[in-house]
Amino acid sequence: MKSLAATAPCPCGRLGAAPGQKGQPLCYGECCGKYLEGHGLNSPFPGDAQSLMRSRYSAFVLEREDYLLATWDVTRRPASIAFDSGVKWLGLEVRSLRTLDESHAEVEFIARQKPAQGPAVRLHERSRFVRSGVHWHYVDGDVL
Ligand SMILES: [Zn+2]
Repeated sequence: MKSLAATAPCPCGRLGAAPGQKGQPLCYGECCGKYLEGHGLNSPFPGDAQSLMRSRYSAFVLEREDYLLATWDVTRRPASIAFDSGVKWLGLEVRSLRTLDESHAEVEFIARQKPAQGPAVRLHERSRFVRSGVHWHYVDGDVL
């Protein structure tokens, strides 16, 4: 598990939309840090599939296994996650969002990483998300 200052740019690279921060990278404390730094019943949780997907990317970057497991649909959740500490995550690009209905959504994204050995790779995936109650969960994805 790694830590990140609340004022650092968020790993997910999300840009601000509000006046005064429009087009500027959001800091971690205003973006995924809201979810990763206080996961629990009384913590904020991502209100849409894209925010959940972004927070899960940041959770991979910061090696937050608890968060990743908690936001994984229970039918598909692995028992544990092995992080490769040699990997350097280079960035996330959300390509498209599809809302299928009130409780199902898909997010297509490209995540780039540099393994300890060899060249950087692109992970291009279309992920499925399902909402149960107020919580979105990652189900699974297709590698594109
Ligand atoms: Zn973020």
